[in-house]
Amino acid sequence: MPGAVIIGSERSEIGLPAGMDILRRGGSALDAVEAAMRRCEDNPADHYVGTAGLPNAQGVVELDASLMLGSGRQFGAVAALRDYPNPISVARAVLEKLPQHSLLVGEGAALFAKECGFTTADLLTDASREQWRKQVADSREAVEGENTGATEGDRRYRSSALELIRRLAPHDGPWGTINIIALDASGEMCVGVSTSGFPYKYPGRVGDSALPGAGNWCDLRAGGAACTGRGELSMRGGTARTVVDLMAAGQDPAQACRAALADAATLPDDYRSELRALALTPDGRHGGAAGQEGSVYALMTESSTEPEFRPRVVL
Ligand code: ASP
Repeated sequence: MPGAVIIGSERSEIGLPAGMDILRRGGSALDAVEAAMRRCEDNPADHYVGTAGLPNAQGVVELDASLMLGSGRQFGAVAALRDYPNPISVARAVLEKLPQHSLLVGEGAALFAKECGFTTADLLTDASREQWRKQVADSREAVEGENTGATEGDRRYRSSALELIRRLAPHDGPWGTINIIALDASGEMCVGVSTSGFPYKYPGRVGDSALPGAGNWCDLRAGGAACTGRGELSMRGGTARTVVDLMAAGQDPAQACRAALADAATLPDDYRSELRALALTPDGRHGGAAGQEGSVYALMTESSTEPEFRPRVVL
């Protein structure tokens, strides 16, 4: 047995120590990923997951999250979930309490969260509201407010919102979804993904983070993988699943991530932005790939005192 390991994408280092504490005590990979991800979702300085996530084009925060287990490929996810600050825990509830389904969206996801006893919160913090307003104002487009009915103004509104989404490329620097992958002492693996999705997305847009095969895949026969970045590309590339398939074919995690990103990079896409991948094998090997130099992922083993960082290979 390789010993417990937990890895995560940029900004996951806030949560990894909580996950490793659980793993060191013999806890499950699922508990570790959920606990680690909740710390990230609750971090008000992080504008891409949970509370303080950046809103959609109408100024409403909508969250996507998923969890997948390696032993039986059980999958639970929520998408376009409003008002609940820890979508990773609602995804877990789908996985455990609603096994006849795998993915709930929007109002249904919120209804289920309420039935499970999760509490609501205002997810749009002053800082994220301010950031949203500033970017919208800078674009000289007013997309605030709501129109109903198919008036000319309504049509103009929709097209301006779409134009806004097209033009507002994410800023440089670490941003995006958080991926966390854990291997526990019993040999079980879990992959978790959480995000507020692309800022200024069309309301109701679901990203790869909630979709098995796209942003999240875990199969104990070969390993687990997850993606951050342009979700529409990893959906079309089946990128997380491709990484795991390549590991099953014998590639090491970093090679497999790079090859899966290279495949997605062949797809035509007018809205292209960076895609990143991260992977862990059942024998504890890990790696990641990104489109840019200097990208890293975070790692803790049972002997770590704090998260360490490892470079991702460059596409
Ligand atoms: N993958 C996310 C999405 O498409 C975006 C991100 O990683 O920031 O929603």
